[in-house]
Amino acid sequence: MDTNEFKIYTITIASANRHKVEELRQTLEPLGIELKSTLDFPGAKEVEEDRPDLEGNALKKARYWHRFTGLPALADDTGLEVDALNGAPGVYSARYAGENATYDDNVNKLLSELEGKSSRTARFRTVIAFVTGEDEGDEFLFEGVCEGVIISEKRGDKGFGYDPVFVSEGHSLTFAELSSEEKNRISHRGRAVQKFLEFVKGGSPPGNDRDRLRR
Ligand code: IMP
Repeated sequence: MDTNEFKIYTITIASANRHKVEELRQTLEPLGIELKSTLDFPGAKEVEEDRPDLEGNALKKARYWHRFTGLPALADDTGLEVDALNGAPGVYSARYAGENATYDDNVNKLLSELEGKSSRTARFRTVIAFVTGEDEGDEFLFEGVCEGVIISEKRGDKGFGYDPVFVSEGHSLTFAELSSEEKNRISHRGRAVQKFLEFVKGGSPPGNDRDRLRR
């Protein structure tokens, strides 16, 4: 399906994260697109994120959500990939220090795993899946990457997750020291969302990463 072949009026996102939903809603509103979230569909089950990669989890969530709502459905998954740890925590970023780990537990584990390592390069990667139908041609993937390094001590109190120890390439402040506007402008998620918006607007380049990411 080509974006020029259809007009989207309502999109639903497989997320109950109010911050994430509100931010995207504000971006889609000027395009005349309404955004609904899991909060608008009580009774939906929570999809288990048990796939071995980000694209697998994002697609699994978006497919379920499309079937459940009957609407074009969006889902995302994000991971932090650290080179010296062979890409860990990656798809396990939310539960790196265990099933019920807090953000602080995860950051502390990361810092201890990196102790004494000379390479500290890393990247955040977000994959957005957008599913508009049952066929493979109705599934789209958009990737956003932000390269950077993991510093050895936490700095800043904004943001969430691994933000206090991540400094993006070409910057000196951690993500937790940036305003949300500054972070969104350069972040993995911001970049993936931009690609998705270009696609929805039918802009060029469409930025659909499906063929590259799908296995
Ligand atoms: P999710 O897929 O957005 O739920 O992200 C999975 C995990 O990755 C989160 O629990 C965080 O630990 C981490 N994470 C995702 N996005 C960010 C970010 O922008 N900054 C810091 N950590 C993040």
